[in-house]
Amino acid sequence: MRIDTKCIQSGYTPKNGEARILPIYQSTTFKYDSTEHMGRLFDLEEDGYFYTRLANPTNDAVAAKIADLEGGVAGMLTSSGQSACFYSIFNICEAGDHFVCSTSIYGGTYNLFSVTMKKLGIDVTFVDPDASAEEIAAAFRPNTKALFGETIANPALVVLDIEKFAKVAHDHGVPLIVDNTFATPINCRPIEWGADIVVHSTTKYMDGHATSVGGAIVDSGNFDWEAHSDKFPGLTTPDESYHGVVYTERFGKAAYITKATATLMRDLGSIPSPHNSFLLNLGLETLALRMHKHCENAQKIAEYLSKNDKVSWVSFSGLEADKYHELAQKYMPNGSCGVISFGVKGGRENAVKFMDSLRLAAIVTHVADARTSVLHPASHTHRQMNDEELKAAGVTPDLIRFSVGIEDADDIIEDIENALNAAVK
Ligand SMILES: *Cc1c(COP(=O)(O)O)cnc(C)c1O
Repeated sequence: MRIDTKCIQSGYTPKNGEARILPIYQSTTFKYDSTEHMGRLFDLEEDGYFYTRLANPTNDAVAAKIADLEGGVAGMLTSSGQSACFYSIFNICEAGDHFVCSTSIYGGTYNLFSVTMKKLGIDVTFVDPDASAEEIAAAFRPNTKALFGETIANPALVVLDIEKFAKVAHDHGVPLIVDNTFATPINCRPIEWGADIVVHSTTKYMDGHATSVGGAIVDSGNFDWEAHSDKFPGLTTPDESYHGVVYTERFGKAAYITKATATLMRDLGSIPSPHNSFLLNLGLETLALRMHKHCENAQKIAEYLSKNDKVSWVSFSGLEADKYHELAQKYMPNGSCGVISFGVKGGRENAVKFMDSLRLAAIVTHVADARTSVLHPASHTHRQMNDEELKAAGVTPDLIRFSVGIEDADDIIEDIENALNAAVK
């Protein structure tokens, strides 16, 4: 199936007489006729549902759809993008370990990695995503277990050179984990370029209607954990907390995802509610259609902004003059995403005036929604960072993060024009 078809058809195939639409299994638990049958489920000897924290048919169907869209072998849903990012690292790192990460990432992920995970004893080194392979390699240590980056960084819109990152990771015997939230699998499938694990905040384009916070992890099945078993004993030696199972032996290509479900979800429990997964699935059904319109609108608006003398700069990889145009052409030839960042002339003060003068575009701590949304990262998402950290993350005080919706592009342009005229005299 092609990707537009997968958006509709993947994950759930009803049998004769079953519901046409994915049912919501709003049930914590599942009933069995014998003690012995349920025992086999606990021993992982037989497949079956017993408790929604570990698995639920609605959640599983949607995870399978996302895995299929990304071209992976298995997926899992989480209750937020934050928990997906956390699990993706914590599944293979423990106290005393280290990983390497691009500086250009979502502010929430930056805090998680640089503050909270450090408290757990997991250390991170941030690298400039535009640095050479040699410079990135210099950040690796003997205890490094993963490399992490975002396909299109939120909000700096830096495009990741996935092949470069994959090569450095694989040269050091560790997986590349890519957060593909902004590009979505419609525009880029990082696994095809060498990524081993893909994570998502499904809260954004996948849901698309701002109804449910959620996340996903997809396993490509391609990373050879056994070839680097000294680094990943959690996957290649018996897990005493789970009947001594060796994940790579028992689950092969799905070892990583099975371990994440069997241990992290069991112990930490960030599951989505089946009802939210149902809503996510509705969003996924129109993902391809919406991404096309988001990209088309964003291209028009970026071109408009780049010609407006009240705007000091525009960052959008669809513009030929953009620093990341070439990389975007390579990895996302059909369009990148609907998010544009730009600077309002006059700096922070005018940026705030501009925000407050918009009528159609709404100030929300959200992006990648069907509705046009706008945010000022320096006063909102990134306000924890000092000026130096802001600079490293590619966020300037005048930066407006403009998430173009699927309304008529001309209405959005009129709104921008009115607000610019009010803000910049
Ligand atoms: C929003 C976002 C996250 C965090 O996801 P939540 O669903 O808000 O927890 C992680 N990565 C990126 C790129 C994001 O945009």
